[in-house]
Amino acid sequence: MHTRTLAQLSADLRARRVSATELTKHFLDRIARHDATLNAFITVTSEQALAAAAAADKRLGRGDATPLTGLPIAHKDIFCTAGVKTSCASKMLDNFVAPYDATIVERLQNAGVVMLGKTNMDEFAMGSSNETSFYGPVKNPWDHALVPGGSSGGSAAAVAARIAPAATGTDTGGSIRQPAALTGITGIKPTYGRVSRYGMIAFASSLDQAGVLTQTAEDAALLLEAMAGFDERDSTSLDDAVPNYSKLVNEPWERVTIGVPESFFDAGLEADNAKALRVALKELEKLGATLKPIELPHIHLSVPAYYVVAPAEASSNLSRFDGVRFGYRSAAKADDLLSFYMRNRGEGFGPEVKRRILTGAYVLSAGYFDAYYLQAQKVRKLVSDDFTRAFREVDFVAGPTTPAPAFGLGQKTGDPIQMYLNDIYTIGANLAGLPAMSLPCGVVRGLPVGLQLVAPPLHEAQLLKTGHYFQRVTDWHQRVPANYA
Ligand code: GLN
Repeated sequence: MHTRTLAQLSADLRARRVSATELTKHFLDRIARHDATLNAFITVTSEQALAAAAAADKRLGRGDATPLTGLPIAHKDIFCTAGVKTSCASKMLDNFVAPYDATIVERLQNAGVVMLGKTNMDEFAMGSSNETSFYGPVKNPWDHALVPGGSSGGSAAAVAARIAPAATGTDTGGSIRQPAALTGITGIKPTYGRVSRYGMIAFASSLDQAGVLTQTAEDAALLLEAMAGFDERDSTSLDDAVPNYSKLVNEPWERVTIGVPESFFDAGLEADNAKALRVALKELEKLGATLKPIELPHIHLSVPAYYVVAPAEASSNLSRFDGVRFGYRSAAKADDLLSFYMRNRGEGFGPEVKRRILTGAYVLSAGYFDAYYLQAQKVRKLVSDDFTRAFREVDFVAGPTTPAPAFGLGQKTGDPIQMYLNDIYTIGANLAGLPAMSLPCGVVRGLPVGLQLVAPPLHEAQLLKTGHYFQRVTDWHQRVPANYA
């Protein structure tokens, strides 16, 4: 049952081959059996899940169910969930119980989705390996000595190990696509503004976007169509009708031109990873796509620009965590207000979060604003213009999601720059606000790798459809790690 996709489980529920309660119990059992090893969940909400499943069963019986009613999923612990601990994997919020639901949580709940729990992640979504979490690292289900990627590492590991059929995630610089690639699943980051950020704890507001991690592109379409759409509570939300993604993915595939930046295949990309990618591109060609070499002349500047813009925004967003109204408060007695703040923040935040706050405050300071922050914003525009120019000639830009398959736990924690370089292929789409998806496309040294497709703004339907067609002729997305099959 656990290897079935959301689309298949939705059909099973409707045909009453399985009840929502049975399905929920099955996944809660799997979590109980495997999560001590994986550490993919921070909180498992068994009671609420069973209550929601019972309500879903009633709804299925009454005949007013949606295609999502009764499907269990997990939420990244960055989304506020009413009455449930919402920690962002930080000691700072270890005691925080959200008083309201994030818009996407509310929308999925209204559709009848059953929440299994909240998944582990890098602290405040800062990281590429899930190792900055206050709750400890997540293991990659393909090899427990390796990282699952990050920051949505818990969501990715849960779906890859089939202890949850699907999960939500957020992507500021690659945090959905990179862990999806390193665990062999599908991940999509929609256009900036497509999905509401209300109730999603902010990291870098101009880059953050919510999305999903699923087994297939078809499943991503199903979830995304219930999550996306205008929300008056998010001032950056796009007021644009949401297409019927799950229907569109099955429509005939129109011929597309796929741009391939040759610079993506330089020495930075592991040779076997490049090989797998070429085979995947051939597969798309066989389906009828035309491949076209293109250039994105400024893409190599995206990592340095991101690591100015993202920390700048983070330093501002995280200033609200001072221990006054909610969150961690030091037990030590403070002498004055400043030492009170310093104790709470000094003890409540982990080292990576502090590094970002310091970098951010520095690049925004009066003396350095022009030299760093303003300069980075200019570079961001150049990167964005590269994509705009490319999309005059091609429908998608294709490339690797990551430079190599999953790396070892502890392998890059001593060198932040090495860690940051892992996002070299994914950050461009965030800087430009574009939708992008990672699809499992091969195996290198026994480990999954991903193919990334980036599309013009609001072309999620085309992206998902291409993913769906690719997954009709490939079976990488059906592979399950040995211990979890
Ligand atoms: N790895 C990147 C970072 O550390 C991106 C994280 C994300 O997308 N949330 O900032």
